[in-house]
Amino acid sequence: MRDRFNSLGGIIFEDCSVSRICTYDDAAVLQLADGKILSSRLIIDAMGNFSPVVKQIRRGRKPDGVCLVVGSCCRGFKDNSTSDVIFSSASVKSVGMSSVQYFWEAFPAGSGPLDRTTYMFTYVDPQPGCPKLEELLEDYWDLMPKYQGTSLDNLDILRVIYGIFPTYRESPLPAAFDRVLQFGDASGVQSPVSFGGFGSLTRHLGRLTMGINEAIDSNFLDAKSLSLLNPYMPNLSASWLFQRAMSAKKQSNVSPNFINELLYANFESMQKLGDPVLRPFLQDVIQFGPLVKTLGLVMLNRPQIIPSIFKQVGIPVLLEWSGHFFMLGCYTFLSTFFDPAIRPLLNTFPAKMKYEWRRRLDAWKYGAGLDYKLSNLGKDSREE
Ligand SMILES: Cc1cc2nc3c(=O)[nH]c(=O)nc-3n(C[C@H](O)[C@H](O)[C@H](O)COP(=O)(O)OP(=O)(O)OC[C@H]3O[C@@H](n4cnc5c(N)ncnc54)[C@H](O)[C@@H]3O)c2cc1C
Repeated sequence: MRDRFNSLGGIIFEDCSVSRICTYDDAAVLQLADGKILSSRLIIDAMGNFSPVVKQIRRGRKPDGVCLVVGSCCRGFKDNSTSDVIFSSASVKSVGMSSVQYFWEAFPAGSGPLDRTTYMFTYVDPQPGCPKLEELLEDYWDLMPKYQGTSLDNLDILRVIYGIFPTYRESPLPAAFDRVLQFGDASGVQSPVSFGGFGSLTRHLGRLTMGINEAIDSNFLDAKSLSLLNPYMPNLSASWLFQRAMSAKKQSNVSPNFINELLYANFESMQKLGDPVLRPFLQDVIQFGPLVKTLGLVMLNRPQIIPSIFKQVGIPVLLEWSGHFFMLGCYTFLSTFFDPAIRPLLNTFPAKMKYEWRRRLDAWKYGAGLDYKLSNLGKDSREE
């Protein structure tokens, strides 16, 4: 990718830190920590979850949720042919001053046949007293061998991995300044449930490439026009509830095994409903039809779990979620029936109107998860 970027005339400045960005009517000027000045028509902020520009836009507001991850890649796993996307083997436990529900993920690594990556992760409500990554790592080294059925003595530690993923209910983040657009983790377009930000970034790459090209060509670089590239997506907002449902609370009025029961009920239903329901969910794509079917089946099979869901997430969060669920239905309807009627007319629209309608059609499609296609072979793909 780097070679391709260079061959197209791109220039990479390594080990440079951005210290200041000033926007003007005709340019955005970026100042590096070493004093170098770069001027541009559009700045794409891909500085990740801890982007200083995002901090400024969000005014230092505390995240609504945090996913903490610790893990490692080790050599020496004899049984290395399967993967877990999400695995849980214990109920809520206390760590420091908090309660946590641990989840696990494991998959073979590409570096060798005996190499395996294992992660332990948990969702927390960020507040003083939350578990520290060091505390989680201590638990990880105790529990991982049991989870994988091996002993630490048999393993060669290749690397240790950890991460903090803040999530905000108000995501994706609309552009707050003219000529500056957030991209990737900085834009908040990733699912609050998985830490699959790279997957999400590639999923939106085609849409954003087209949109950014059009914005630059037609000079639609004001904050309002750029915001259309990071629009409201009901499927992303709806998935925030899942993170809340999977976060253990210190003062909880549900059973310590509730999160496991809820996950079991959902995955059992999704498995019964088959690949068209299970696969998009496992790849972070929430769609209206599969969601309705899964919720319907859970309610029919395990109605006794519903009061605990209310207690766990709270009425205000459920009410807010209902709004996103309704919008998910609307976006699915609009993308399925209105998009084919409007799209052929786009070239007859004036440039600004065309730009805005294209973004609106994209928002309907991606916001309803309809960019995801399940092929006949049972393999899934996403449209570029
Ligand atoms: C342990 C772990 C496991 C993960 N596993 C997966 C996975 O399995 N699948 C998946 O899809 N995703 C996964 N992710 C998430 C994935 O890594 C991110 O979503 C992805 O890297 C986001 O890319 P980005 O370019 O938006 O941001 P980043 O990769 O975070 O890049 C931001 C860059 O901006 C730089 N930067 C920050 N501030 C400044 C500044 N002031 N000046 C200059 N540069 C600055 C940073 O140094 C960094 O290089 C994982 C992440 C972690 C931590």
